[in-house]
Amino acid sequence: MTHTPPARPVVVVLGGGYAGVQVARPLDDLADVVLVEPKDHFVHNVAALRALVDPSWLERIYLPYTALLGAGRVIQDRVVKADADRVVLASGTELFPDYLVLATGSGYPFPAKHDLPGPDLTSTDLTSTDLTSTEAAHAKVRNTHAALAGAGRVLLLGAGPVGIELAGEIKAVWPGKQVTLVDVAGDVLGERYRPDLKAELRRQLAGLGAGLLLGSPLEAGPPTAAGELGTFTVTTQAGAEVTADIWFRCYGVTPASDYLAGGLAAARRPDGFVEVTPELLVAGQDRVFALGDVSAADQTKGAGAAGRQAPVVAGNIRALITGEGELARYEPPAASIIVPIGPDGGAGQRAGSEDLVPAETVAQLKGRDMMVHRFAELLGLGT
Ligand SMILES: Cc1cc2nc3c(=O)[nH]c(=O)nc-3n(C[C@H](O)[C@H](O)[C@H](O)COP(=O)(O)OP(=O)(O)OC[C@H]3O[C@@H](n4cnc5c(N)ncnc54)[C@H](O)[C@@H]3O)c2cc1C
Repeated sequence: MTHTPPARPVVVVLGGGYAGVQVARPLDDLADVVLVEPKDHFVHNVAALRALVDPSWLERIYLPYTALLGAGRVIQDRVVKADADRVVLASGTELFPDYLVLATGSGYPFPAKHDLPGPDLTSTDLTSTDLTSTEAAHAKVRNTHAALAGAGRVLLLGAGPVGIELAGEIKAVWPGKQVTLVDVAGDVLGERYRPDLKAELRRQLAGLGAGLLLGSPLEAGPPTAAGELGTFTVTTQAGAEVTADIWFRCYGVTPASDYLAGGLAAARRPDGFVEVTPELLVAGQDRVFALGDVSAADQTKGAGAAGRQAPVVAGNIRALITGEGELARYEPPAASIIVPIGPDGGAGQRAGSEDLVPAETVAQLKGRDMMVHRFAELLGLGT
């Protein structure tokens, strides 16, 4: 007599970034896990700016999904419509999840993230964001690297963590380049962080000779496309002039949630982030979870936050499937951040500590190896 094993519940995870992979893998033993991701590789974008100034890093930050799941599968496709129990992909494939996980993250202007923000993220035409192919994304990074190498003066619009990190990366490779950061805000880094951290970052930027023009927007944006070589002059409303040969946009997180439909659309806030309960269930849902950059669970958006939320989501799905244990709640920690300035510099603040994180610790935590080995392990690739 043949024995038919009981059907395993289907867990569909949308998005194979930091959040998605860390929910998918621990459920592989219990459920039929289907991870949907448009890119052909996991992109460790935390190190994307290092790869811009040194493209030899590209190979290390594009990691295959091949070892992520044993029983489950990764589908290279894009979600165009998702309700609680039906997901439609750009190819026309339909999935019918028992449990659904929204982990589609956010877009950020190239080269900080290697995809395009805005409407292209939900395009039904997979080729319209051709950076889903590793080959195309690497070619674009190499071309942008060549343009940057040929520029004597660089303008960075935005003096948040990405602008500061990019300034540090450029100065580490090309100390002689003129780098200017412009921000409408009166200080670097954004509102959530400590004044002494901002002062330390300003001090290190000044030490490298990077210019800061704060508290005034540009009269008009640069006439050239971001990341392209071409000399231009812009003026801030306060009257400062900057002449540069290339510029990059270092602001603009866009949550990727346009595909939400039916009951799920109700949990999508006007700013695009998805409202969740402390258990990381999508508001009003009992089998749909959201985490990482797309969720409103934590004001701090980070790979670190995604990594702390993932065990809560994976554990709660396990509890629902097995009927054992209570649902866990996610407690957002107080604001903490590390901002590298090149491989050896930077500073940070940690929840619960009065002292700033010194440059040496920032270098150990991120600046030197950009956490590459940690994420390779998460993908099941060892070191
Ligand atoms: C330059 C830079 C440096 C950073 N450094 C740090 C750092 O040092 N520490 C830190 O904690 N954080 C850092 N961050 C923030 C961190 O990268 C994000 O918080 C993190 O990427 C969030 O992970 P996620 O999985 O939620 O989203 P994402 O990483 O954005 O992943 C979402 C995935 O979903 C996919 N997707 C999108 N739309 C769809 C769709 N319609 N269908 C299917 N899949 C889709 C995307 O292709 C992507 O792979 C940095 C960010 C940048 C830009």
